[in-house]
Amino acid sequence: MTGAAVLTLDGVQAAYGPFKALFDVSFRVPQGSVVALLGANGAGKTTVARVCTGLVRPSAGRVEVAGVDVARLPTWRIARLGVLHAPEGRSVFATLTVEENLELAFGREVGRRGVPEALARAYELFPRLGERRRQVAGTLSGGEQRMLSLARVLVRPPRLLIADELSLGLAPIVVEEVYRVLARIRDAGTSIVVVEQHVGHALALADEVVVLNKGRVALAGPVAELGDVSEWLLPAAHRPD
Ligand code: ATP
Repeated sequence: MTGAAVLTLDGVQAAYGPFKALFDVSFRVPQGSVVALLGANGAGKTTVARVCTGLVRPSAGRVEVAGVDVARLPTWRIARLGVLHAPEGRSVFATLTVEENLELAFGREVGRRGVPEALARAYELFPRLGERRRQVAGTLSGGEQRMLSLARVLVRPPRLLIADELSLGLAPIVVEEVYRVLARIRDAGTSIVVVEQHVGHALALADEVVVLNKGRVALAGPVAELGDVSEWLLPAAHRPD
């Protein structure tokens, strides 16, 4: 795909103290597309997500969001450019009801007057949350809590959503629901980086794939052309080098 890039990483390196986590990572996310960022445990997926949102500073390389160099910007400035990292740092308030959680989040984003419309949109996207609007969030299932945290952040569709292991620990039927919502968000114009260990749903949604292996890009290209990427997702001892 050749359109303008929403996100560009060029030669990105990153480290946690003396431990190098990313070496020369480069890829781009074309406007309106979904890129699946795959790799085994510890491959560096979350570090890439943190670099894109400003939580980890790259030690070398460029990170651009819609043409703006964000490598040295604080997280809130990057968020203002329309980059959203979910569900990182977005856990729900356990003692408040579903609706109170949503009202709080939406009030901050769109002001009090915008809340009813935002609630209607959230319940349309996640009917199950509508059914449970009076339930205390701490008593929701894990999948419902994931939906609540997604609904809280998606009232204003971002320019770029970094969906970080959204399916982790969820029942298959809930994963399907989450991915249906991601497809709708993509259709509304948001570009998405889907970070996943479990690849089936991610590949079904994605236009392009980037596979990380030990902090490097091992494979990248359109889903339709790459064929079977599963050998790259095996534990290190069984993986190609
Ligand atoms: P997972 O699927 O297990 O979350 P990942 O592909 O997201 O893995 P990262 O979390 O980016 O991988 O981790 C990449 C490497 O960086 C790993 O070796 C990990 O141990 C290390 N790492 C991650 N976070 C930190 C940290 N805060 N301090 C030190 N090392 C870290």
